Amino acid sequence: MVTIKQTDELALKRWQAMPADIRKRLEDNVFCSNCGVTTIVNYHVDSSDFAIILKGYCQKCNKEVARVID
Ligand SMILES: [Zn+2]
Repeated sequence: MVTIKQTDELALKRWQAMPADIRKRLEDNVFCSNCGVTTIVNYHVDSSDFAIILKGYCQKCNKEVARVID
């Protein structure tokens, strides 16, 4: 099965415009239903309405996780 990662270009630009230390803090503060607070890895940037959404995987258990940046 092939997973197609769709990256929202505008959301990606907005995400990359944020300071690196803030992005790191957000990446390290993602909720996983298995692990609680975890780090998101292998994520891509999407958006919904005006919010940026990171969609990726839990670093600990590899479950799909998402983080809404508002
Ligand atoms: Zn997990």
